[in-house]
Amino acid sequence: MTGMSETTMDVLVIGAGITGVSAALELAEAGHRVEIIDAYGPAAMASGWTLAGVRQSGRHPAELPLARAAVALWGDLDEKLGAQTGYRRSGNLRLARNDSEAATIRALVDDQSRAGLDLTFLSDLKDAREIAPALSDRIVAASFCPTDGHADPVATVEAFARRAEGLGARLSFGERVIRLEADGAGIARVVTDRRTITPGAVLLAAGILVNDLVAPLGHQIPLRRPMVTVLRSAACAPLLSPVLGVANADMAARQEINGRFRVTSGAEDWPGDIVETNGRPVIHPRMRAIRETIEKVSSVLPAFAEAELAEVWAGALDLTPDALPVIDRLPGLDNLVVAAGFSGHGFGIGPVTGAIAARLLRGIDPGHDIQPFRFDRFAAHTAAHAPLTLHG
Ligand SMILES: Cc1cc2nc3c(=O)[nH]c(=O)nc-3n(C[C@H](O)[C@H](O)[C@H](O)COP(=O)(O)OP(=O)(O)OC[C@H]3O[C@@H](n4cnc5c(N)ncnc54)[C@H](O)[C@@H]3O)c2cc1C
Repeated sequence: MTGMSETTMDVLVIGAGITGVSAALELAEAGHRVEIIDAYGPAAMASGWTLAGVRQSGRHPAELPLARAAVALWGDLDEKLGAQTGYRRSGNLRLARNDSEAATIRALVDDQSRAGLDLTFLSDLKDAREIAPALSDRIVAASFCPTDGHADPVATVEAFARRAEGLGARLSFGERVIRLEADGAGIARVVTDRRTITPGAVLLAAGILVNDLVAPLGHQIPLRRPMVTVLRSAACAPLLSPVLGVANADMAARQEINGRFRVTSGAEDWPGDIVETNGRPVIHPRMRAIRETIEKVSSVLPAFAEAELAEVWAGALDLTPDALPVIDRLPGLDNLVVAAGFSGHGFGIGPVTGAIAARLLRGIDPGHDIQPFRFDRFAAHTAAHAPLTLHG
């Protein structure tokens, strides 16, 4: 804004995942009247199902500046939010289990080092074990990004939501938006399972369910929604500080600061069924995926096989054709910004992407090049989906 004061809006943020709550805080800080509405509660879907790696390494060039800005923000987030996010900047180790994976990782290191990222190629097991002594002898090489890390996703989302609430935002949880109703200029009414709201502006951060609300308006983000299996152990002695990924993204692992291992499978087809259990959305993982995930993780981190299994769940991803999000207004809907399609890596960048979406809604400079995140880039979409890169 250049000298002019911003007009205060009544903004309805749909979705209390990391994207919605960080956007809500940015809007509340700017003095807007904000309501966050979620069918369940904070971090009920991807932002709770996630591995919660905070990663710059392996990012698409369009996302790398956002990831770097996010890492800078994460360092001060506990202070800003007045709560513990569990963030640790303890690195990301991407493992090669054979020569072909080593070549893939070497190329990635060359590429991203040229882009200015502090990423090192570790050419043998000995070097990798200096970062993670618990690795098995299956590892032949790795990359290491010391400024990557991880956080507690539920604590983070709750901290954003509470901070926004402290600045006057209203939290409406357990309330589902049924439809958005448009008039000539934008969204005129939002109908929930309890009431009809007439917001000044709407920020839609509904994750895998985004198309349920935009399709009736004649729009669609081309999404595939694969599922990923997640296992969490009981607390173990500290053994692993960086997040572990692998070259082909068929597993990732980290040890939470409370000692629990939290590990993920690769992605597989999801039939699309969500079961509501105790008021939360649940996706049931397959037995085979659980077995394979235990085998894959144990083969690189043998101690995992001896840990006690405490929890298992599955999560679904909102995967776009180029694995980049949509952060944009939809055509003809001036008071609506959509932020979705984070393609399995939207947690770490959430503090930045939420702020970008909020600034777009406010009509001010988003602070980053958001051309790659335009909604209309899929207008002539025919190509196959980009491969998924789940590496924490
Ligand atoms: C298994 C797994 C591992 C992952 N690992 C990583 C990782 O290591 N690092 C990383 O950066 N990212 C990772 N991701 C991706 C990351 O978690 C997501 O990109 C991110 O959490 C998306 O946040 P969001 O706020 O956009 O969506 P969500 O967190 O899904 O939030 C959307 C919210 O909208 C609500 N909602 C939807 N429809 C409605 C409606 N009609 N009415 C009211 N509310 C509605 C939902 O209840 C939900 O709470 C992973 C994801 C998964 C599933």
